[in-house]
This record gives sequence, structure tokens and C-alpha cells, in this order.
Amino acid sequence: MTNIHPETRRFLDRAAKEELLRQKGVVLWLYGLSGSGKSTIANEVERVLHGSGRMTVILDGDNLRTGLNSNLGFSDEDRTENVRRVAETAKLLAGQGIIVFVSVITPLRRHRAAARDIVGASDFHEIYVKADFNTCAERDPKGLYAKAKEGKIGQFTGKDSGFEAPEHAELVLDTQSLSVEQCANDLLGYLRSTQNDWAA
Ligand code: ADP
Repeated sequence: MTNIHPETRRFLDRAAKEELLRQKGVVLWLYGLSGSGKSTIANEVERVLHGSGRMTVILDGDNLRTGLNSNLGFSDEDRTENVRRVAETAKLLAGQGIIVFVSVITPLRRHRAAARDIVGASDFHEIYVKADFNTCAERDPKGLYAKAKEGKIGQFTGKDSGFEAPEHAELVLDTQSLSVEQCANDLLGYLRSTQNDWAA
């Protein structure tokens, strides 16, 4: 690293970007089992924000695995690297004043702690999208639970690979008892609380 000299002074700073966008960059890190509702809620909230002129991005685990993370699998080591890359990307984008939704299973507490460390605690918001294994298996929006049951997918989260419920989350969205609309409203309300002078 001795010959690497990061530029910090010449480039436009974060405040300039946030002023342009009239919003504060944040990372809303949605995690939970596959099928718990992360992408559905992120998509819903992003559309509302887009409609009111907010700049957002969704970093979706499945999508990223087709590009940036295409060389990673689901071993413990690869899941850790997956989270590291997503967190670094989220940090870059939040640093440009963008509201970032992350939709990644992030199964273990240490994965969430690592993401928080990378992004920085002041920008990082841990949002647990809560639904139990059986509920997700019944929904099975991608047909993955059926395949896992037939033994066609190994290292499946909640079955042969662990998922740790949080000890601490800034917000819990219980998708078993609340509708998509209610969850989206809760997340919007939470997001508003992270912004200064947020006009409708
Ligand atoms: P994930 O991104 O967590 O893998 P998805 O968003 O792709 O999950 O799928 C969640 C599924 O659960 C969708 O079929 C969605 O319609 C359904 N669902 C039912 N209730 C909710 C809710 N309250 N919030 C989000 N999704 C819900």
C-alpha cells in the first residue's frame, strides 16, 4: 500500500454532492432470509422516493452476483467477501449523497458488524426484514426453497447455512404480520428521520 495515495482534497466533497441532491447519503441495509421481502420493500420505497425527486440506488444481492460478485459462491468465506464488496460499494455511493438500499441476506451478526464498520456507523442503518423460514418457504418467490428441499441447492440459508436473528437492529419490518405497504411506510418514516430538512 506504500505507493497508493488516495485523493481527498481535489475532488468535490460529499457536502457538495448532498447540496446538489438536497438529501443526505445513507445506507439502509435490509437483511433477512431469502423471500423475507427485502427486494419488494426496497423497490416499493425507491419508487415513492423517485417520484418525489430523490436519488436512490438498490444494491440487490442477486443482481450483484451476476456481475461484481459473480465469482463468489455461498461458502462462509465467499459470503463474507460478498458483504465486504457490497458494503464498500454502498459506502462509495452514500459518499456521493445517494440513498442506498442494500438487499442482501447478510446472515450472520459478524457480517452485519463488518458492513457497519466499512460503511461507518453514522451512515449505516440495520433494517431486519423479518419472516421465518416456513413463511419464506411458503412464499418461495424464486422457487429456491423447493429446490433446496429436493437437495438441488447446497448451503441454503436457514437450512444448511445459518441465519442469526439480530440482537440489535435500528428497525424491524415484520413482513409476516404487516402488509408490503405498511412495511414500506415504516421504512419511509425511518428514512425521513435520517434526513435534515426533508421536505415531503
Ligand atoms: P427477498 O428480496 O427478501 O429475497 P422478495 O422481496 O423477492 O424477497 O420476495 C418476498 C415475497 O414476499 C414477495 O412475493 C412478496 O410479495 C411477499 N410478501 C408478502 N408480504 C410482504 C411484506 N409485508 N413485505 C414484503 N414482501 C411481502
